[in-house]
Amino acid sequence: MPAKKKSSPPKKATKAKKAKKGEPLATYRAKRDFGVTPEPSPEVQLPHADKPRFVVQEHHARALHWDFRLERDGVLPSWAVPKGLPPDPKVNHLAVQTEDHPLSYIDFEGEIPKGEYGGGTVKVWDAGWYDLEKWEPKEVMFTLHGDRVQGKYVLIKTRGNQWLMHRMDPPQDPTREPFPSGLRPMLAKKGTLPADDSAFGFEIAWGGRRVLVYVEGGRIEVEDADGNNVTDRYPELSRLGRAVGSTEVVLDGELVGLDRDEQPMAGSPDRRDVETDSALRRAARDHPVAVMLFDVLYLDGHMTTELTYTERRSRLEGLNLAGGNWQTPSYHKGDGAALLEAARGQGLPGVVAKRLDSAYAIGKRSADWVLVSA
Ligand code: MN
Repeated sequence: MPAKKKSSPPKKATKAKKAKKGEPLATYRAKRDFGVTPEPSPEVQLPHADKPRFVVQEHHARALHWDFRLERDGVLPSWAVPKGLPPDPKVNHLAVQTEDHPLSYIDFEGEIPKGEYGGGTVKVWDAGWYDLEKWEPKEVMFTLHGDRVQGKYVLIKTRGNQWLMHRMDPPQDPTREPFPSGLRPMLAKKGTLPADDSAFGFEIAWGGRRVLVYVEGGRIEVEDADGNNVTDRYPELSRLGRAVGSTEVVLDGELVGLDRDEQPMAGSPDRRDVETDSALRRAARDHPVAVMLFDVLYLDGHMTTELTYTERRSRLEGLNLAGGNWQTPSYHKGDGAALLEAARGQGLPGVVAKRLDSAYAIGKRSADWVLVSA
């Protein structure tokens, strides 16, 4: 490999350096103070690679989005894609064109200070090179060769700075199942502790409100057990989407209230049948909820409902979802009597026994899950 051509050290760039009219990166420069942000100033040049490159940067700004940039004529034409690159040709994603970025931005990762333009964390989500098929004012078509993403895409300008991003190739994973909707939770039957104790996993029953949480492109939708969309009522759960990032997942759990020490409380939280946004914000602040997660129905392109309880739990735990407003309480293999006793001692409603080798029965009440009251 030839030695990297050394670029001249970047001049100390400040806001005082006025953007020249017609300069390709004038807007990029005008929006930033390079004395404050760690982002590269346009003076930093990188050597040209053989193939034009692309990058997708996950940007945890005020709203999570993915910045898609293609190398072209010495700069990086850029689009902010709120839900990330669409994995499926059936679903197009909005892409908002932003200012061209300098080539040196292609491997930028770091923390843009709060209060600065785009303040928040940037990390490279995918990078690689592309074959260009077409570059027209309203249509850009290319095939990506990234570490994560491979395949043919097109960006189509709709109006203003708004574009649609469409995958032209079949899904990268040929066995991919579309992101589901309209699922209903599996329900437990009431009963007593099972005799074959070791064939069951035991979880605390919180007596909360059952919800399914759909997470796609870092955005969540929360549905109650009847399929009503209650997302807007629980704004404190929205950051769960950020925590999940680009993973596509449908989670099962129950909503409980949090006490002053941010500990979960048994029982159903307030329904928040309030009229105004301010009342909703007040309720979220004064009486926050947490979702106690205990199952996963879909993960990264595949329904997981046919997997056993043990396998689903292991996938769920792999997501490491533990934050103030979402938790993944552990389950106990066997020894249900001890957990039931503990639940009693803490004034909790009971335990749920779940057969370790059982599948998830969507929308059904099944004897594979037994609710045992304390
Ligand atoms: Mn961005």
